[in-house]
Amino acid sequence: MTSTEPSVFTKIVAREIPATIVAEDDRVIAFEDIAPKAPVHVLVVPKTPAYANVGELAAADPDLLAHVVQTAQRIADERAGGQFRLVFNTGEAAGQTVFHVHAHVLAGDLQEGTLA
Ligand code: 5GP
Repeated sequence: MTSTEPSVFTKIVAREIPATIVAEDDRVIAFEDIAPKAPVHVLVVPKTPAYANVGELAAADPDLLAHVVQTAQRIADERAGGQFRLVFNTGEAAGQTVFHVHAHVLAGDLQEGTLA
Protein backbone atom coordinates (compact mmCIF):
# COMPACT_ATOMS: atom_id res chain seq x y z
CA MET A 1 0.00 0.00 0.00
CA THR A 2 1.55 3.26 -1.04
CA SER A 3 -1.10 5.63 0.31
CA THR A 4 0.11 7.94 3.05
CA GLU A 5 -3.44 8.28 4.40
CA PRO A 6 -3.74 6.35 7.70
CA SER A 7 -5.96 3.28 7.38
CA VAL A 8 -9.22 3.03 9.28
CA PHE A 9 -7.49 0.48 11.52
CA THR A 10 -4.63 2.87 12.32
CA LYS A 11 -7.30 5.37 13.36
CA ILE A 12 -8.87 2.74 15.64
CA VAL A 13 -5.44 2.02 17.20
CA ALA A 14 -5.05 5.77 17.81
CA ARG A 15 -8.60 6.01 19.25
CA GLU A 16 -9.47 8.53 16.54
CA ILE A 17 -12.53 6.48 15.64
CA PRO A 18 -14.46 4.23 18.01
CA ALA A 19 -14.50 0.45 18.00
CA THR A 20 -15.60 -2.32 20.34
CA ILE A 21 -12.17 -3.53 21.43
CA VAL A 22 -12.02 -7.10 22.75
CA ALA A 23 -8.26 -7.55 23.19
CA GLU A 24 -5.16 -5.39 23.02
CA ASP A 25 -1.48 -5.49 23.88
CA ASP A 26 1.62 -3.67 22.69
CA ARG A 27 1.61 -5.37 19.26
CA VAL A 28 -1.99 -6.10 18.27
CA ILE A 29 -5.52 -4.87 18.72
CA ALA A 30 -8.71 -6.91 18.24
CA PHE A 31 -12.18 -5.46 17.80
CA GLU A 32 -15.65 -6.37 16.55
CA ASP A 33 -16.13 -6.07 12.80
CA ILE A 34 -18.55 -3.22 12.06
CA ALA A 35 -20.49 -5.43 9.60
CA PRO A 36 -20.37 -8.95 11.11
CA LYS A 37 -20.67 -11.91 8.75
CA ALA A 38 -20.91 -14.48 11.56
CA PRO A 39 -22.11 -14.63 15.19
CA VAL A 40 -18.49 -14.02 16.22
CA HIS A 41 -16.62 -11.74 13.82
CA VAL A 42 -13.55 -10.11 15.30
CA LEU A 43 -10.64 -8.50 13.46
CA VAL A 44 -7.12 -9.00 14.81
CA VAL A 45 -4.84 -6.24 13.57
CA PRO A 46 -1.12 -5.62 14.09
CA LYS A 47 -0.74 -2.08 15.38
CA THR A 48 2.01 -1.28 12.89
CA PRO A 49 0.71 0.01 9.56
CA ALA A 50 3.82 -1.36 7.81
CA TYR A 51 2.22 -4.42 6.18
CA ALA A 52 -0.65 -4.35 3.69
CA ASN A 53 -1.33 -8.08 3.70
CA VAL A 54 -0.45 -11.40 5.34
CA GLY A 55 2.24 -12.28 2.80
CA GLU A 56 4.15 -9.09 3.55
CA LEU A 57 3.74 -9.70 7.28
CA ALA A 58 4.89 -13.33 7.04
CA ALA A 59 7.99 -12.34 5.08
CA ALA A 60 8.98 -9.45 7.33
CA ASP A 61 7.88 -10.45 10.84
CA PRO A 62 6.79 -14.08 11.29
CA ASP A 63 6.76 -13.66 15.08
CA LEU A 64 4.14 -10.94 14.76
CA LEU A 65 2.08 -13.15 12.44
CA ALA A 66 2.26 -15.94 15.03
CA HIS A 67 1.10 -13.49 17.67
CA VAL A 68 -1.88 -12.51 15.50
CA VAL A 69 -2.82 -16.20 15.19
CA GLN A 70 -2.36 -16.83 18.92
CA THR A 71 -4.57 -13.82 19.70
CA ALA A 72 -7.22 -15.16 17.33
CA GLN A 73 -7.07 -18.56 19.05
CA ARG A 74 -7.47 -16.99 22.48
CA ILE A 75 -10.50 -14.99 21.36
CA ALA A 76 -12.04 -18.12 19.85
CA ASP A 77 -11.27 -20.08 23.05
CA GLU A 78 -13.13 -17.44 25.07
CA ARG A 79 -16.08 -17.03 22.72
CA ALA A 80 -16.51 -20.11 20.57
CA GLY A 81 -15.04 -23.18 22.28
CA GLY A 82 -11.82 -22.78 20.34
CA GLN A 83 -13.39 -23.50 16.95
CA PHE A 84 -13.11 -20.82 14.31
CA ARG A 85 -12.26 -19.83 10.77
CA LEU A 86 -9.31 -17.48 10.17
CA VAL A 87 -9.43 -15.41 6.96
CA PHE A 88 -6.84 -13.05 5.52
CA ASN A 89 -8.24 -11.48 2.36
CA THR A 90 -5.34 -10.53 0.10
CA GLY A 91 -5.94 -8.17 -2.80
CA GLU A 92 -9.00 -6.40 -4.12
CA ALA A 93 -10.04 -9.35 -6.26
CA ALA A 94 -10.16 -11.46 -3.10
CA GLY A 95 -12.34 -8.93 -1.29
CA GLN A 96 -9.70 -6.99 0.62
CA THR A 97 -10.89 -3.46 1.29
CA VAL A 98 -8.53 -2.30 4.06
CA PHE A 99 -4.85 -2.52 3.12
CA HIS A 100 -3.54 -2.82 6.66
CA VAL A 101 -3.11 -6.50 7.39
CA HIS A 102 -5.86 -8.06 9.51
CA ALA A 103 -7.20 -11.48 10.39
CA HIS A 104 -10.94 -12.14 10.39
CA VAL A 105 -11.88 -14.47 13.27
CA LEU A 106 -15.22 -16.02 12.31
CA ALA A 107 -17.06 -18.43 14.58
CA GLY A 108 -20.41 -19.66 15.75
CA ASP A 109 -22.83 -21.43 13.42
CA LEU A 110 -20.86 -20.69 10.25
CA GLN A 111 -22.47 -21.31 6.89
CA GLU A 112 -20.66 -22.82 3.94
CA GLY A 113 -18.85 -20.12 2.02
CA THR A 114 -18.90 -17.47 4.74
CA LEU A 115 -15.51 -15.93 4.01
CA ALA A 116 -16.07 -12.41 5.36
P1 5GP B 1 -11.34 -6.82 4.26
O1 5GP B 1 -12.50 -6.71 3.30
O2 5GP B 1 -10.28 -5.78 3.97
O3 5GP B 1 -10.78 -8.21 4.38
O4 5GP B 1 -11.93 -6.53 5.68
C1 5GP B 1 -12.17 -5.26 6.17
C2 5GP B 1 -13.19 -5.40 7.27
O5 5GP B 1 -13.15 -4.22 8.03
C3 5GP B 1 -14.62 -5.58 6.77
O6 5GP B 1 -15.16 -6.80 7.27
C4 5GP B 1 -15.34 -4.35 7.32
O7 5GP B 1 -16.66 -4.63 7.75
C5 5GP B 1 -14.44 -3.92 8.46
N1 5GP B 1 -14.46 -2.48 8.73
C6 5GP B 1 -14.33 -1.48 7.81
N2 5GP B 1 -14.37 -0.28 8.41
C7 5GP B 1 -14.53 -0.53 9.75
C8 5GP B 1 -14.64 0.33 10.89
O8 5GP B 1 -14.61 1.56 10.82
N3 5GP B 1 -14.78 -0.28 12.10
C9 5GP B 1 -14.81 -1.66 12.22
N4 5GP B 1 -14.96 -2.14 13.46
N5 5GP B 1 -14.71 -2.48 11.16
C10 5GP B 1 -14.57 -1.92 9.94
